[in-house]
Amino acid sequence: MRTKLKHICAVLFILIIPERFSSPEITLPFSKWWEPQGLSVFRKAYPDVEFISLFDKDANDWCIHVITEESGEKKTDTALYWCESRFLPKEKLAEKETYRPMLYTYPKNVPDPRNFTEEQIAHIAEFTSRENRQKSAVDPPFLFNAIYDVSDRAHTESHIKKVPFLDGRTVNVHEKIEAPLTRVSERIMALPKTAELEHFFSTLSRTDGFNWRSVRDTQSRSFHSIGLAIDILPRGYYQKIIYWGWQKQLHPETWWNTPLESRWTPPQEIIDIFEDEGFIWGGKWIVWDNMHFEYHPELLLYNK
Ligand SMILES: [Zn+2]
Repeated sequence: MRTKLKHICAVLFILIIPERFSSPEITLPFSKWWEPQGLSVFRKAYPDVEFISLFDKDANDWCIHVITEESGEKKTDTALYWCESRFLPKEKLAEKETYRPMLYTYPKNVPDPRNFTEEQIAHIAEFTSRENRQKSAVDPPFLFNAIYDVSDRAHTESHIKKVPFLDGRTVNVHEKIEAPLTRVSERIMALPKTAELEHFFSTLSRTDGFNWRSVRDTQSRSFHSIGLAIDILPRGYYQKIIYWGWQKQLHPETWWNTPLESRWTPPQEIIDIFEDEGFIWGGKWIVWDNMHFEYHPELLLYNK
């Protein structure tokens, strides 16, 4: 009985002490239960990265030490604040509203404009105006800069690799996605050749990857400029309905209402394989980009 009581006291002590008497930064026991909800998807998505969370009482937020290894030698420790999945350095915490959270809803199905409410339509018109896109919140780059070592052009280019992709083609991507992209390619090539797939391959024009640029009309850095995005382009793509921005130039008021069946879309089996290997498809965005895939295993795990 007495031993049991001792055990209960010990557990209570461990649970209460860090809360009441901890120093500003302290490792909490049972960190799996005491860390920000959502951090586990990053752990699963990036198994070669170590995430250590410490609660910072002064900032009233979790400080996450992101520990990465460069070719098995030197370890880099980047301290970033959780900030509702934004992963911001301390000096950026005051401007957190200019960054959007990294975990957000990625829908199961393509949003169908036939189901949009008046309110949604007004919202889409507002956030896609050129003026709003230039000042809207951007994707915080800090976590991916740490994971992929891509804080500037020279570092990024040192990690870009030409990878074989789809039947004799190649695509330039970050070396860290060579494995999942190769699996995507092999799985697509192993699909039974339906008429739709035959058509897809016979009309395939280009596969584009790394390209140093920012997202059109925004301050965000494109995933193409980290080498984590791939565009699959059919022949004559400029005459097809494939990207919201081009459609908006032609139909500034009604582009959002473009029926799903009029948009060029890769075969569903191809989209499914990409998603299964950790890539999201731009066709599911409200600002749809049907040629575009980018590597976000954390988002797919978060939305499971
Ligand atoms: Zn793209």
